Order: sequence, then structure tokens, then C-alpha cells
Amino acid sequence: MSFTLHGLGVSGGIAVGRALLMSHATLEVSHLTIAPRMVDKEIARLDAAVRAVKTELEAMKESTEHAPAELGAFIDIHTMFLDDPELVEKPRELIRERRCNAEWALVQQMEHLVAQFEQFDDPYLRERKYDVVQVVERVIKELLGHPGRAVLKTAKGVTEEMLIVVAHDLAPADVITFKEHRFASFITDVGGSTSHTAILARSLAIPSVVGLENARALIRDGEQLIVDGTRGVVIVNPDARVLEEYHLRKNQLEIERTKLKRLKTAKSQTIDGVEVQLLANIELPGDVPGALEAGAEGVGLFRTEFLFLDRGDMPDEREQYEAYKKVVKGMAGRPVTIRTFDLGNDKDLHPDDMIGDRVKTNPALGRRAIRLSLAEPQMFQTQLRAILRASKYGPIKLLIPMLAHAHEIDQTLAALEQAKSSLRGEKAAFDENIQVGGMIEIPAAALAIGLFLRRLDFLSIGTNDLIQYTLAIDRSDEQVANLYDPLHPAVMMLIAHTLASAEKVGIPVSVCGEMAGDPALTRMLLGMGLRIFSMHPSQVLEVKSRVLKANVEELAPTVRRMLRLDEPGKLREALEKLNA
Ligand code: PEP
Ligand code: MG
Repeated sequence: MSFTLHGLGVSGGIAVGRALLMSHATLEVSHLTIAPRMVDKEIARLDAAVRAVKTELEAMKESTEHAPAELGAFIDIHTMFLDDPELVEKPRELIRERRCNAEWALVQQMEHLVAQFEQFDDPYLRERKYDVVQVVERVIKELLGHPGRAVLKTAKGVTEEMLIVVAHDLAPADVITFKEHRFASFITDVGGSTSHTAILARSLAIPSVVGLENARALIRDGEQLIVDGTRGVVIVNPDARVLEEYHLRKNQLEIERTKLKRLKTAKSQTIDGVEVQLLANIELPGDVPGALEAGAEGVGLFRTEFLFLDRGDMPDEREQYEAYKKVVKGMAGRPVTIRTFDLGNDKDLHPDDMIGDRVKTNPALGRRAIRLSLAEPQMFQTQLRAILRASKYGPIKLLIPMLAHAHEIDQTLAALEQAKSSLRGEKAAFDENIQVGGMIEIPAAALAIGLFLRRLDFLSIGTNDLIQYTLAIDRSDEQVANLYDPLHPAVMMLIAHTLASAEKVGIPVSVCGEMAGDPALTRMLLGMGLRIFSMHPSQVLEVKSRVLKANVEELAPTVRRMLRLDEPGKLREALEKLNA
């Protein structure tokens, strides 16, 4: 019988294959009472299992050196949980107090922690409960004597490329299995758009749908599946007509992808010879190979706060220096734009913190990004010194997030001078002429652009926040997601004003928000005068293909007319025409 399931498409593309149901350790463990003399032995058994899983994770970490950076980060989170007394010490106490078996003690504490994670308002933190479950599951497998990840059995004559993994949820280790096995796709019952599964799916670039709720219960091993990762649809046992249609679409997509790869070394310029820089946005040093693979000419945005978000503490200067150095050396002479921490708001080191006895009610409008850095001079000095020291290995530019006031720029430049002078005192080498740029992501900054142009070497428009603050909608609140509109005339006016003003005085401007990586907007942005685009590495080639076919001289007057349209419907129509 054919039926369709709907979920959240987290990685685009189409896969056609056979279902491979992934079994995982059951957490329904028995509750056993143990003799008093066995208590120490039971604790030792638990400790040994935790140690074994840690060793297993360490080995995995080593084998992920060339895997997407996220994999390593997730393994780190799981290792961190195994070091957390809340997860390992409490079960020991339970074994001692209640004389129970290790498996049962572990599951009791897991349930307690999962309930705590469910209380978080922040969706990212809420989803960390899945990490707790996955770690506990792994320890239990070890305790039960069948360590390692679930075995994936393939039927005779079936190659892995034909298989679609159907799982309740996936752990990083399972995704490593995918890298080794090259499965066609995976689908899961749980997971939201910020879940690890979703993030990993995107980095692996295989079609996937999460949040299907009961795919594992409804689908049987070996059934034929179509996964449409773009639309978030899974078709089980499709009929011949649907199958043919999807095969056709899949082939077309593959031809397009192969063609795009050929553009990697093509010079990024328009038909009329205008050079366009295509840069990569990265979050971790491990993203560098992906950026180079996509042919990015440099890093336009290194979101440094992601390096340390999952740890909950601030890295020291040496650790930061090593991370920045790794990126700069990895980019081998290409420019690297390092943004100072954009902490606060949804990217908080201590999300449940209060300010004194005051709860942060409006974190997006609160002490975020440069406001936080200026309020924490020691933290800021540590970062500035680390960035400056790394600048001896290659061209680094310094980018400051969330600027709105002239005095914030002046204070930042003074802080930079202080960091430089301390390094001079130590005779440490660094780039004396390091360029300093500002993010334009607050409407006030775009409107009063002159004070930025007079003080800074370059600008980068952060459209994600610019849209959020211009339209007064929380970019992480799905209830107002329908109002998040990059084509709102007010947003367009602010971008156009920034680009035109900077051009007049010869200051380079890039766009590093999601708009830069949307191929449907490439022609329009080129027509508006944008020449530097910074985006997720996976988007670079597609945007390049649009650049190569564009003629800026022809586009500019049309786009100028478009910008005079203040009816969103008309603007959308005009954009469609522009891309036709
Ligand atoms: C932006 O706001 O557009 C941006 C690039 O920064 P982030 O998404 O990190 O806030
Ligand atoms: Mg931003």
C-alpha cells in the first residue's frame, strides 16, 4: 500500500531507495535489586562502561578529523555529558542508596535530566535532551554487552547507495556510519530544525527529512521509499508513475550538481567583466576544507562564538589563538574575516543566567555582541590579542557585530589599540595594519551610515538581523516566521542605501546574511551594486553560476526601477521577471 508521510525537510534533494530500519538499544531496562556486597561491583561495572564509551568516542573523534566540523563538536558534547557528575555521579549514588542495577540507575537519572532540559525555552537547549538519551543509550549498550552502534544489516544484492536509513533518532556515531557507508538518505521520527540530526544532514549534503513522528513504526524493512528533502515528504511504496516522475527529477538534479562542480575554478565575474568575490561563512576551523572545496575566495564571516558555545566557559587566549591560526593557515593566503564574539541573545554561554535578579526579557535587544564585549573588557582583550597574534600567519580582517553608535566604534578601536600596544610590549608579531570592519545589522546603522564610513575600513551587511530589527520580528520565533521578509521595501531601502553610500567613498561592503547565499536574489543584489557575497560553502557554486550569467550593466537600471516599487507583490513579480 502506498502512503505519504510529512515532516521537516532539513536537507534538500531526492533519494529513492529501500528502507533500512535502524535498531537501537532499548531503554526499557529491568529494575533489579542487588545484594549489599555487590554494590561496589555494580558501581565499578558502571564506571567501566562509561570509560569504554569515552574511549569509543575518542576514537571516533580521531576518525572524524576530515568529517564535517559538526560531527566533532557533537562528539565533544557527548563526551562532556559523560564527564558531568549529574549524569554519572548521581547513578552511583542511586546504586548505593537503593541497591539497584546500574542500567536502572542510569535511566532514572536520564529521565530526570530530560525533564529538566524540556523546561528550557530555548529550542536548541531543549533539543539537547536527545544528546542525553543518546549518551545513556550508548552506555547501556555497553553494560548489556553489545557495545557500539546498532548493526545495519543489508539484504543480499542490495548496495548501500540504495538504502534509506529509517531511525527514531540518530547519534553522531551513526552519522559517521553514513560517511563510511554512503547511504542515500536518512529519515527520523524526532528532531527539529536546530536538532543535531538536522545540522548534520545539511553538512553531509544528503536529502533528509526529520520530525516524521512515527516513520519507524509505519515503515517496514525493505519497503521502497522516495525521500524529497526539499519538500519534507516521504512516499512509501510509490506506484510506478510517481516513481518514474521522481527518477526523472532526481536525474535532473544530479546533472545540475555535476555541472556546478565544474565551476569551482572558473573566475567569478559577470558577462560584462565585473569581478565578484564569493566568500564563505564558517563556524569552526573544521569548516575550512569545505570552503576551499567550494572554491570560496576567502572567509567573509567566521562566527567565532560557535567555537565555544557548547562548553559553557570562555576559552583562554592560547586556545583562541590556535583556532584562529588554524583557519588562517588553512585558507592559505586567502583573506579571513574574523567576527568578534556575537554572544548574548540566542547564542548565550549561560542561557539560564539572570542579570542580578532580573530575567533577560528581550535578549535580542539586550547586552549582545559588541555591547557584551565592551562590557567585559578582559574577555574582549583576550579575543583581540588572540586574533592579532594569529594575523602573522595570513591576512585577517576584524569584524565587529551589532554596532549602532559612534562611541561603540571609538571604544572598539581604543580596545584594539590597547591590545596592539600590549603585544608590542611583548615584542609579539602581528599585522599592525589589520583592517577593521563593522556589521550593518541594526537599521540605525544603515540609516546613519556616514559615521561608520568615516571610522571603518569595510562593512558587512548582516541581513538576518537587519530584517529582524527592521520588521520587529524575532528571527527564531516560528510564530512570526511568516513575517520575516527579505523583500520588504524597508529592508531593500536600507541595503540599497548602505551599498550606494559606501560606493561613493570607496569603502568595500559585503552581505554575509542568508540573502547572499540565496541564488534567487543574486541578480538583484548585483544590480544593487553588491560585489562581495559571503555564504555557507554549499551555496557558493550555485551563486557563482548566477554571477557568470549576469550582465551588471543591463541589470542595474532594471533593479533601480524595482527599488522604487513599494508594493511587495509588485516587487516579487519584478524579481521573477529579473530571474526569468
Ligand atoms: C546576520 O545577522 O545576518 C549575520 C550574518 O549574523 P548572524 O546570523 O550570526 O547573527
Ligand atoms: Mg547578526
